[in-house]
Amino acid sequence: MAAFWTYVRQMLRNRATVAWAFVFALISASGLGVGLLTLGPMLRLILRGDSLDQLARQFNEKEPWIRVPDEIIARLPPERFDGVVLIIFVIAVLTVLGGAANFMHQYLSQMLATKTIARIRQDTYRHVLHLPLSRVIARGPSEFVARIVRDAAELQRGFIAVTSKAVTQVLKGLAAFTAAMVFDWRLTLSAAVVAPLLLIVLRKLGKRIRRGTRGSLEAQEGLLRIATETLHGLRAVKANTGERHAARWFHRLNKAVVKQELRVRTARALTGPVVETLAVLIIGSLAIVAAKHIIAGNLPFERFVLTLGSLAVAGASFRPLAGLVNEMHAAAAPAERLDEILSQPREAAGALRLPNLSRHSKTIEFANVSFTYPGSDRPAVDRLTLTIAHGERLALVGPNGSGKTTLISLLPRLLEPDSGRVLIDGTDISTVNLTSLRRQFGVVTQETVLFRGSVAENIGFGAAAPSREQIIDAARRAHAEDFVLELPNGYDTDLAEQGASLSGGQRQRLAIARAILRDPSILILDEATSQIDAESEAQINAALAEFCQGRTALLIAHRLSTVLNADRIVVMDGGRIIAEGSHEELLEDCDLYRRLTKTQLVAAG
Ligand code: ADP
Repeated sequence: MAAFWTYVRQMLRNRATVAWAFVFALISASGLGVGLLTLGPMLRLILRGDSLDQLARQFNEKEPWIRVPDEIIARLPPERFDGVVLIIFVIAVLTVLGGAANFMHQYLSQMLATKTIARIRQDTYRHVLHLPLSRVIARGPSEFVARIVRDAAELQRGFIAVTSKAVTQVLKGLAAFTAAMVFDWRLTLSAAVVAPLLLIVLRKLGKRIRRGTRGSLEAQEGLLRIATETLHGLRAVKANTGERHAARWFHRLNKAVVKQELRVRTARALTGPVVETLAVLIIGSLAIVAAKHIIAGNLPFERFVLTLGSLAVAGASFRPLAGLVNEMHAAAAPAERLDEILSQPREAAGALRLPNLSRHSKTIEFANVSFTYPGSDRPAVDRLTLTIAHGERLALVGPNGSGKTTLISLLPRLLEPDSGRVLIDGTDISTVNLTSLRRQFGVVTQETVLFRGSVAENIGFGAAAPSREQIIDAARRAHAEDFVLELPNGYDTDLAEQGASLSGGQRQRLAIARAILRDPSILILDEATSQIDAESEAQINAALAEFCQGRTALLIAHRLSTVLNADRIVVMDGGRIIAEGSHEELLEDCDLYRRLTKTQLVAAG
């Protein structure tokens, strides 16, 4: 439960709102308590034949510590019936006031819970954005998505249980209990001895609920993972006739969700009957004790009725608490799971104060660098050494899985080498400010990622408030302007709807425009493996030729024209460099390169 209370404390930090919410809850509960107490004189009026002012005088004699002022007594109606009407009127007013206070309390506390959850979601999302890439790769994005969305919603239910319901119910229960104590404290206390028993039972059920909720959230996370992965890769699923396989996976996790949910539901369903049974036991034993005293003549009947009535109201107020305690236990699981995310260190945490890397102008060096993916037993990059001069266009070629992408990912520190160093202009990049390092790069990946939003927004993604002119200029230089203007709304076309209708070459040119806008000193291009039409290829090559002027370019090449335009070609295999040189030299000396030119390096379609 510790994580849950940490979050609750975070919510309680809004002192003013919390204070007001509490005051309103107090008003609402006092309304109930005073209302109950006024029932005492009312019954006396009806049953005993005293009038209201007589009752007030008797009260003043009996209870010397609270005095009803004489002016008020003088104004009390002498008629019994008028007295009853007055009391009912007072109760009505109290009820309306209590209701209004209750509304204000609910409103404030729901607002508090909802806003706090929104902040927790925001904090968690931002934290995930800043986690090291390797960690997110290792655990898969679905897990984080599930926690940010699903677990936060679950936690919110716990919050609302604590703030908007529990407080009022406890205060109301206490108010009614106090009224019962005023009517007859001995009788009331004998009823209260059963309370510890109730607490023990609730604790037991709570534990089950906590475990079940955790299990259920974990299973749902798995469900989300399978559904996203298989639907994202639906092409592969269908091509491999894997539908039945996928459905079976889904079925297994779906069953796990049901099992865990039922565990929670049974515990919750048990709560009501258990509490009710205990309540009947209390009232039964109370009735026996009371009957004895009433028959013996030392307990007036109306006092018994009033005490029992107030206790019943107290019980009714406390009753939902059992369910609310369950909600809190259920919220403990998501709280822990969110806390797990927040407790993972951010990438380069605390490195903001490191010196900035100035704009690259000399060399890029990989010095004996190795990297192994977590859980893999073979290094993806293996003691690799390579120096690239500023302004050079370097093409990387190699079979799939030879480590090209991994090597390139070490440069902007998306991945950190296990050993060896990466240097830019002679400075080890692990000793500089991460933002200043990443600002140097323009990256065009194979899967050109387009986000929600317009063409202009997509080009400007990641740049600091680019102007319309800068965006258009970048698109022009990426040779993207022609096709953008043909889209239904030009630069304002929404890519959420249109993205799918762009060709691979067009997407790539948008990505190049995005890179151009950043004015990077180093360009990283991971070429698409898919066919691109000759027209697009020529446009892309022209754009790149201009863009690469005065910048260092690392190209993961899948196209013959790209290697032909490069200053140097490096051939990778098994995480190491096995040859380098020009196209002609490599055709001469390198078997693997010769094979690659035949099988992988495609000419324009
Ligand atoms: P390339 O870009 O040349 O195709 P990669 O750098 O993607 O090669 O992959 C190099 C090696 O690392 C391969 O053996 C691949 O299976 C492995 N690898 C790549 N990504 C991951 C990952 N996320 N987790 C584990 N292993 C990976």
